[in-house]
Amino acid sequence: MTATADEIRRAEASTAPNYRPLPVVLHEGHGAWLTDIEGRRYLDMLSGYGALNFGHTDPELLAVAHEQLDRLTLTSRAFHNDRSATFCAELAELAGMEMALPMNTGAEAVETTIKTARKWGYQVKGVPQDRAKIIVVDGNFHGRTVTIVSFSDDPRATAEFGPFTPGFVRVPFGDADALHSAIDDHTVAVLLEPIQGERGVILPPPGYLRTVRELCTAHDMLMMADEVQSGLGRTGRTFACEHAEVVPDIYVLGKALGGGILPVSAVVSRRDVLGVFRPGEHGSTFGGNPLACAVGTAVVRRLKTGEPQRRASELGAVLTSALSHLPASEVTEVRTIGLWAGVDLTTGDGRTVCEGLLKRGVLANAAHGRTIRLSPPLVVSEDDLRWGVEQLAKVLARQPGVAAPARL
Ligand SMILES: *Cc1c(COP(=O)(O)O)cnc(C)c1O
Repeated sequence: MTATADEIRRAEASTAPNYRPLPVVLHEGHGAWLTDIEGRRYLDMLSGYGALNFGHTDPELLAVAHEQLDRLTLTSRAFHNDRSATFCAELAELAGMEMALPMNTGAEAVETTIKTARKWGYQVKGVPQDRAKIIVVDGNFHGRTVTIVSFSDDPRATAEFGPFTPGFVRVPFGDADALHSAIDDHTVAVLLEPIQGERGVILPPPGYLRTVRELCTAHDMLMMADEVQSGLGRTGRTFACEHAEVVPDIYVLGKALGGGILPVSAVVSRRDVLGVFRPGEHGSTFGGNPLACAVGTAVVRRLKTGEPQRRASELGAVLTSALSHLPASEVTEVRTIGLWAGVDLTTGDGRTVCEGLLKRGVLANAAHGRTIRLSPPLVVSEDDLRWGVEQLAKVLARQPGVAAPARL
């Protein structure tokens, strides 16, 4: 048995089967490239769903983490630590906001924004207790907790996980009239991804986000943008909302905020919104820990230079042009924004395509089976990016596999 087959057998025997990983066992990663336990190399075209925007083992981020690891890693928020205030202040400033509430995973930040909206609704908007309503959209992905899957329309996310949390109304994504009709006196917020990542990089129709913003302002509701995947440089801007020239009331951030090193998430907003919390009403043992804050601050400073956003934008043009050469008969639609693409397949068999890519030295994954979602690290080189898309073209044209070239 090969080392890979043996390791996969051990994983299948000991790990709950809530994922179905491709048959590769990764061992090391630098920049946009990974090596498996048998020394084969792969171009990462997924980047941990955007958690690795700055690539694997970025030397600058690692140095910050190492320095912090040797000094102070965890304090709990029963005390102040000398990393947390800087992180919250600089993150809020990057977002043009006033405050941040640090958590760990994206789902926790989404839960936090839901609690924020409800509390704000009762305290500030004056909604009667336990009547607050939040509008969400079809095809949403906000994480995996019971409350979050309560408003999912993906049967795999919901089947046999009920009973669910009430207080959500779902309307079609991109339909401002439907959203308008769903508003009543108890509506406290609209929660949406400005671009739907897990659904397959779905962009809203022009003007939609601006109308959502206007409706939120007119009806005294919070616009809550889940930018866990779309934010922090991926689309060529710090936030995807910027493409629509829209400023939400709340940004929900995660994934890349942890620099690919550890989970770091946050809810970022104004004082009049996040200020509704009183001590003891919400928290997290690990949220705001000094290690997370040190890495998060380094990520914020990287984004403040504008360099990752610039790269995403420039490489995005390369990606768009490369994808236009995919065999037309195999692809029904390609959507791109920044260094992010959804490629809809004619066959709908994304798993087979990803297995073909793996054999050619490219790691990608399929959203809902029928869309190849491409989100390489923003540090990928132009040549490597073109090479990666070439492999996709060859897989779609059903050319026999070849070993990945040794690189780096
Ligand atoms: C990944 C994701 C989440 C959940 O983040 P986790 O860290 O996996 O809990 C929430 N919202 C969006 C838009 C995401 O892409």
